[in-house]
Amino acid sequence: RVVCNAKVPRLSDQKAWLDGIDIFIFDCDGVIWRGDSVIDGVPAVLDKLRAAGKRCFFVTNNSTKSRAGYKGKFDSLGLDVPAEEIFSSSFSAAAYLEQTKFKETGKKVYIIGEKGISEELDLIGVPWFGAEQDKDKVVNLGSGGKVEHDPDVGAVVVGFDRNVNYYKIQYAQLCINENPGCKFIATNLDKVTHLTDAQEWAGNGSMVGAIKGCTGQEPIVVGKPSPLMIEYLEEKYKIPDRKRICMVGDRLDTDILFGRDNGLQTCLTLSGVTKEDKLLSDDNKIAPDSYVSSIVDFFP
Ligand code: PLP
Ligand code: CA
Repeated sequence: RVVCNAKVPRLSDQKAWLDGIDIFIFDCDGVIWRGDSVIDGVPAVLDKLRAAGKRCFFVTNNSTKSRAGYKGKFDSLGLDVPAEEIFSSSFSAAAYLEQTKFKETGKKVYIIGEKGISEELDLIGVPWFGAEQDKDKVVNLGSGGKVEHDPDVGAVVVGFDRNVNYYKIQYAQLCINENPGCKFIATNLDKVTHLTDAQEWAGNGSMVGAIKGCTGQEPIVVGKPSPLMIEYLEEKYKIPDRKRICMVGDRLDTDILFGRDNGLQTCLTLSGVTKEDKLLSDDNKIAPDSYVSSIVDFFP
């Protein structure tokens, strides 16, 4: 669905706007923190929203930490957020496997990714291998060289992996192509990622792209903009009305698309990757309902 970029307004009449929202879904990097620093004024905004009776959830496409890992990050930034309000794409991958009753198949998961994914799979009792275990493996490309793969792998989960290598790609390719019914699950498709302030780094789109390229398969995406997380929240918390939820994010093609395509209100914040001129340019086809400099503007 393409929406032409009507002029996106800056958020105004905050009181009326807040009255129309019961639940906020916050993206994390670029909204709550930038790298390892909390964004100025954010703790007070979260306190005020809670004091006004608003429910807050936190959704990140970064799969490198588990929900428990993010709880530690929130704590270290002085933000008191219960683990159940945090939804990382690593958690979403596990939630998807649970929803589809993967455990009952008795199969295993091969992971390209970091410990966020393996920790979440441990919590739901799904056997896995790969990930950091395969970081130093190399493919023997000499004559007769062959990678033997496990026919009991029923899903490959691909998340951001700073130790991705040719062995892992070959292993994933064999599982997906040769094990009947093997699922190809991507935590997220972010093209670039905000590892440091110095530059944009190749995101999980690069790892997923490698596996798409060698299998010809499209992944099941569990992170934003996939509807999985909103469906999960809706079901778990019996949320009656999506129109009273606002998705707040800094990225158009994940956060705002997620909100827009799932019938939520949307607000873009300029405190992360999207600059005002890009948001307002005629080339932008993903328009939020409104935008702010940072979420501090919720309470002018
Ligand atoms: N993936 C990785 C590896 C990241 O480092 C980041 C941001 O730091 C993201 C994804 C995007 O995270 P978010 O959805 O919180 O903006
Ligand atoms: Ca973000």
